[in-house]
Amino acid sequence: HLAKEQATGVQRYDAANDTNTADRLELLGDLRRAIGADDQLSLQYQPKISLATGRVTGAEALIRWQHPTRGRMAPDRFIPMAESTSLIRPLTSHVLEMAVCQAKKWADRGTPIPVAVNVSTRCLLDPGFAAQVFGLLYRTGLPASLLRLEITESAAMADPDRALTMLRALHDGGIGLSVDDFGTGHSSMTYLQHLPVDELKIDKSFVQAMTDSHGDAVLVRTAITLAHNLGLSVVAEGVEDDATVAALRELGCDVAQGYRFARPLSTTDFDLWLADYRAGHTVGAAPRQI
Ligand code: C2E
Ligand code: MG
Ligand code: MG
Ligand code: MG
Repeated sequence: HLAKEQATGVQRYDAANDTNTADRLELLGDLRRAIGADDQLSLQYQPKISLATGRVTGAEALIRWQHPTRGRMAPDRFIPMAESTSLIRPLTSHVLEMAVCQAKKWADRGTPIPVAVNVSTRCLLDPGFAAQVFGLLYRTGLPASLLRLEITESAAMADPDRALTMLRALHDGGIGLSVDDFGTGHSSMTYLQHLPVDELKIDKSFVQAMTDSHGDAVLVRTAITLAHNLGLSVVAEGVEDDATVAALRELGCDVAQGYRFARPLSTTDFDLWLADYRAGHTVGAAPRQI
């Protein structure tokens, strides 16, 4: 009956669908209150590891929502929903604020860790976004080099001219820029060449499959070659085992991120993990077992 709906363009009344809409509206309201409340939303940080030196090169900030009655909500449940409304703006501001404050704490403590924040299309195309980010850096005193923003190609392709202007402003101000989830969505090599980005993150779906599937291994290798030819550093996300680490190192991948090294961690757990990791780690050695 899907085909019929598509053919006529008419959505028939569906009680289940109606419930979903009510559910969605309720969740959006809850999320709006959560942004103001300050005790439900938090960030976890996942380290990125240099495959050449074993050093921690940065951390990605990932949002967590502890809903008062529904419990822990995965970002995939509420980020796309927030992105379809203007709620993504205050949510992103809140995330940036938390991430930049944490990066400043690490820097002040003498262990500077560049922090990466995921930025949605709507924010990237918001003309005031760069000023907001630079205002935040100025207010907190965090050097721009300790902030990185992750965008997707589809975000940049949504309105190429506007996205390019925004990315140039951020990049010229010293903020690191990564293309996230590379290989999913529509890639345009012509366009990638013109983006002022310095890092490419290969989507975990390819990385997770690369040791079992020749096709995925070829895709990973091609992405690494492409990135290096464009002068970009390459991150593999979703690295879960030693076989994948070895394969990535063989292919010359620069950085790995994944459960093999650490899951996304609360700041307390991240500090514990870091102390432990550094204690067991010597430069030049392979990343140690954890
Ligand atoms: P992403 O930016 O591609 O983040 C990587 C996702 O992979 C995270 O899922 C992370 O927990 C997961 N991951 C990392 N290593 C491994 C691994 O070894 N194995 C597996 N199976 N998964 C791994 P998470 O935290 O559920 O976030 C999902 C997506 O939600 C993110 O994908 C990002 O697109 C979005 N997101 C998360 N936080 C934010 C945020 O603050 N703002 C925005 N706009 N989006 C966010
Ligand atoms: Mg990301
Ligand atoms: Mg990603
Ligand atoms: Mg992803």
